[in-house]
Amino acid sequence: MSNKGFKTKKSLGQNFLKDEIVIEQIAQAAGCGPMDTVVEIGPGLGVLTDALSERAGKVIAVELDDRLIPILNTRFALRDNVEIVHEDILKFDWSGVSPEEGGDLHIAGNLPYYITTPILLGILEKKVPAKSITVMVQKEVADRIVAPPGGKDYGVLSISLQYYAKARKVLDVPAECFDPKPKVDSSVVVLDLKEERALAPDEEGKFFRLVKQAFMQRRKTLSNSLSGFDGKGKEEIEEILLRNGIDPKRRAETLSLEEYIQLSKEI
Ligand code: SAM
Repeated sequence: MSNKGFKTKKSLGQNFLKDEIVIEQIAQAAGCGPMDTVVEIGPGLGVLTDALSERAGKVIAVELDDRLIPILNTRFALRDNVEIVHEDILKFDWSGVSPEEGGDLHIAGNLPYYITTPILLGILEKKVPAKSITVMVQKEVADRIVAPPGGKDYGVLSISLQYYAKARKVLDVPAECFDPKPKVDSSVVVLDLKEERALAPDEEGKFFRLVKQAFMQRRKTLSNSLSGFDGKGKEEIEEILLRNGIDPKRRAETLSLEEYIQLSKEI
């Protein structure tokens, strides 16, 4: 499959998928059935849109590049379950999207890598009522998203996304599967959104501030990195950590999501 003479823009993260097997694998991983609605982020020339529309009840494909809109409209003119929306996904009005009666909402896409984090965190923070998010991201970012505690990949991104969703990597995709070839390898991750959050909405701000401060200097012990948090001195921080069964000498990357949640309630 070629890009049919379309001149891709690097600034829009346009690395189009050309590998039919990978396209089918992403559509399958997206987990949508005939009753479901799927919002596709960045349809490009529509290769994934096509595969998704064969499985889902409805596909809403949100594309920013105005040059692609007429191409997509022509390609899907006879596919009445595909709606093309010309919009920046970061400004997309999610409140207008809801699944059909008896169906679920899913989100999928081969993401423009330059805005991976704002796209994912934006969707999760807005509490879009989606069941899952299936996305192609840079491999290195995928490794951080799914990382368990204890390693170098585990950090603010892992904890932030894992707070909202169970994250798993389903596929590594080499650069050869794209046209043009990106400089990095890629992976597909699936985020299965949790139905219930561990914290009340008014507690979440403190949780995210705590995680950010803990990792600001990840080589420091927690008693040092958290000292000054919400005006609390080192001794007070140590006392709170000990009270919660956390050795103040531990470092940010050793704490589990559950320990951060517990600590943010107590600190
Ligand atoms: N889905 C296609 C594929 O797999 O071949 C294209 C994927 S390409 C990596 C990313 C797509 O996202 C491009 O079509 C690009 O124009 C689009 N895009 C970039 N920034 C966007 C934004 N802010 N909102 C919506 N789409 C965007």
